Amino acid sequence: MTGALPSPLPEVSWRRGFRRRMLGWFARNAQDLPWRRNRDPYAVWLSEIMLQQTQVATVVDYFNRFIKVFPDVRRLAAAEEEQVLRLWEGLGYYRRARQLHQAAKIVADQYGGVFPRDAERLRSLPGVGRYTTGAILSIAFDRPEPILEANTVRVFSRLLGYSDDPHAAAGQALLWSMAQAILPRKQSGQLNQALMELGREVCKPRNPQCEVCPVLMLCRAFRENLQAIIPRPKRKQNIEAVREAAVVIRRRGRVLLRKRQEAERWSGLWDFPRFPLPEVPAEKINRAIADEVRRLTGIRITLGPKLTTLRHGVTRFRITLDCYAAKYLSSARTPSADRQQKWFRPEELQDIPLSRTGRKLAEQL
Ligand code: SF4
Repeated sequence: MTGALPSPLPEVSWRRGFRRRMLGWFARNAQDLPWRRNRDPYAVWLSEIMLQQTQVATVVDYFNRFIKVFPDVRRLAAAEEEQVLRLWEGLGYYRRARQLHQAAKIVADQYGGVFPRDAERLRSLPGVGRYTTGAILSIAFDRPEPILEANTVRVFSRLLGYSDDPHAAAGQALLWSMAQAILPRKQSGQLNQALMELGREVCKPRNPQCEVCPVLMLCRAFRENLQAIIPRPKRKQNIEAVREAAVVIRRRGRVLLRKRQEAERWSGLWDFPRFPLPEVPAEKINRAIADEVRRLTGIRITLGPKLTTLRHGVTRFRITLDCYAAKYLSSARTPSADRQQKWFRPEELQDIPLSRTGRKLAEQL
């Protein structure tokens, strides 16, 4: 079942047997997750957004904390963005949190706090794509709407023995058709959750546990021993090493932070002034860093010693962050109006959303 064109989908009897096995397996093995305790569309939506790019084990604590503070969509809509970001801090991909907040406002203002049951309206909400729409409609409202995400792409590719690129247009068309075709009229939400869980727990990217898989006998990759090469691996991204500097500027017991702007990484979060480390000879580095700080914040400093070096990765970048101490000297007379920067007492940093490295640095202060 290879080639660029979509392959035929499995027959009716295959699909029937598949549903029966999957639903039976899920009834016996479903993990007890907090968002599964009822079918509240708000909880389903929140969990699905949190689970994008993030492991279930990590999401559980974040979900519990978040739902405690914002138990419904109206409470989330009424929150300050900073409060939402503070609860999201550490989960990464902060755009998700900001879009979640924007979408909550739309649901509260335009739909009276009630989630639309209409695919088109749901998809028009910020951050809600085809996958999230399918998840909300099937899990919360038991509508036969398909889902396709990383786990189900892998499971379907293996079941069908699809060895072409599942992320290319032909692969996506085939797998979305498969996701739709296998849904029962009732219990679609259960089946969708079962498929994701099978992908996470059994049909893993490496060493799938086929011996305990409930659909082993229906799986083409298993029959032909192709699990190791299906799905076709994505092309590896080239990793780029980057060096940056962050500066802790002190003034009368406070430190300066700036809010990251729309076009920047981690926009909406607070951070110490941070920028690419100037590429200058070692004897000129202090001066160059002070100039960068002045350009970014309008503040003149005397650079102090290096405090620490932090290493972290963001998408395809491996960043080495040199963190310096600095003393405030003076400020430009007319700071530009759009500069969002503020002096904080160290204990106040607990309550504001910081970038991950900003938090590490704050903990050292
Ligand atoms: S038999 Fe193996 S490869 Fe096929 S779906 Fe099950 S776990 Fe995945």
